[in-house]
This record gives sequence, C-alpha cells and structure tokens, in this order.
Amino acid sequence: SIDRFAGKTIIVTGAGSGIGRATAARIAREGGRVIATDVAAERLDEVRAELADFTVETVVGDVSQAETIERIMQAAGDRIDGLANVAGIMDAFLPPSEVDDATWDRVLTVNLTAPMRLTRAVLPVMIAAGAGSIVNVASEAALRGSAAGAAYTSSKHGIAGFTKSVAFFHGPQGIRANAVAPGAVATNIEAPMRSEYAAGRIGPILQVVIPPVAQPEQLAAALTWLLSDDSANVNGALLPSDGGWSAV
Ligand code: NAD
Repeated sequence: SIDRFAGKTIIVTGAGSGIGRATAARIAREGGRVIATDVAAERLDEVRAELADFTVETVVGDVSQAETIERIMQAAGDRIDGLANVAGIMDAFLPPSEVDDATWDRVLTVNLTAPMRLTRAVLPVMIAAGAGSIVNVASEAALRGSAAGAAYTSSKHGIAGFTKSVAFFHGPQGIRANAVAPGAVATNIEAPMRSEYAAGRIGPILQVVIPPVAQPEQLAAALTWLLSDDSANVNGALLPSDGGWSAV
C-alpha cells in the first residue's frame, strides 16, 4: 500500500463535502493525520464515521472567522506538514454590471481572504521545520472570464496570485505552494445562474465547451500529489484538472 503521508499532519478545509472530503479520505488512507475542518457539523460527522479506522480530527467552524483558524491551529499542534485550502463558495454568475457588494464581499472573503489567513497562520510552523506544502483550489475561473461571475472569477484569479506569492517568498525556506484548477466536478457546490445574462448568453456556450463532469476523487488525486513529496520540484504551479477545458 502507498503511505505517502505516514507521520504527517495535513489540514484540509471544506473537508465535509466534495473535493475536500475526497482529499481528506485519500490522505487518511495513505497514513496521514488529517485535521478535517468545515462549517457543516453534520457533514464532518459523516466524514469521521466513514474514516473511523484512520486518524482524523475534526474542527467545526467558518474558516473566514479568526477563532476558527485558532481552533484549527490548536488541533494541528506543533507539526504541520501540509495545508489544503479547499473550502469555497460560488457566486450567482453575476456579471460586473450586476454584482452586489454582499456577494462580492462574501465570495472574496471565503475564497481568498480565508485561505490567506490560514496560510499566514501555518507558515511560521512550516518555516521553523524548513518544509511544508500548501495546496489551494483555484478553478477554471482562474484561467478565463467565462467560467463564473465577476466575484468568483476575481477570487480565483486572486488565489492563483497568492499561491505564486507564497512560492516566491517562502520557497527558499522550504515551503511549496501550488494550486489546482478544477473544471466541472460533481459536488454539492451551488451554481445558481441568477444572472439572466449568464443563463441566456454564457450558459449555451459553456455547454458546448465544457468536458464531462469529473468526480471529486479525480481532483483529490491532483491535490494529494501536490501535497506529497512526489511533487518536490513543483512550486508556484497552477495545475488544471479539467478534462482539457483549459486547452479550448
Ligand atoms: P462543496 O460545496 O461540495 O464542498 C465545499 C465545502 O466547503 C462544503 O462542505 C462547505 O460546507 C464548506 N465551506 C464553504 N464555505 C465554508 C466556510 N466559510 N468555512 C468552512 N467551510 C466552508 O464544493 P466543492 O465543489 O467540493 O468545492 C471545493 C472547492 O473547489 C471550492 O474552492 C470550489 O470553488 C472549487 N471548485 C469546484 C468546482 C466544481 O465544479 N465543483 C469547480 C472549480 C472549482
């Protein structure tokens, strides 16, 4: 069996569902100690039950709140080998002309500010150890303007930039930071097309160019590769896992 994460502690946000859940499961089955965190308590209960034979500790909380980050850090302890910032929310496909402040603020806070704060929290531990791997979940919306609304697209371009910033500044200290850009994945994320513009004009175009919907386990394979030492020479990369959408 593969034991890529034996002896390692990895924090996974959004671990209650979809890509985060599949990533937490794979790390646990490969010998890692997982700090699984999500705002949805009942989803984390399911994860704990599903992975009862493995080392999984759960932290319930909104990752955009400072006190949640404090509790994640307490649970992790003084050794943190990896961080997967997976928790994220969609917008309503609102174009720049229609985006409201509440949507903009919430999407930027959850998708960009929270990963920055958690990264900032784990970096001192990783720097002291001279090693650590951080993986962020970007999106096709980090590569193009047509995959989501203005807020989500901006948040995912932002996380791609933040990923490179971590790689640049902290690579010399032994830290790696990479991002995965998923295409469409079968999860619980909501993608309501509240914008008439998107439904009427973008929707039909997307239906033509988007490859088949992927499974969360296919994304977990990319995330765990970037978290593991197999990707030791990869830093600052944005890896599409999208069935070729990014080649269109
Ligand atoms: P999902 O909704 O199935 O899972 C996301 C999890 O994050 C949920 O369990 C949710 O409770 C949790 N979460 C949301 N906001 C949170 C917060 N503030 N604090 C703590 N937990 C929070 O969705 P998913 O598709 O697995 O999404 C994971 C990531 O993948 C997101 O960053 C998303 O933007 C990205 N992504 C998804 C797709 C897709 O098609 N599903 C495509 C591109 C990118």
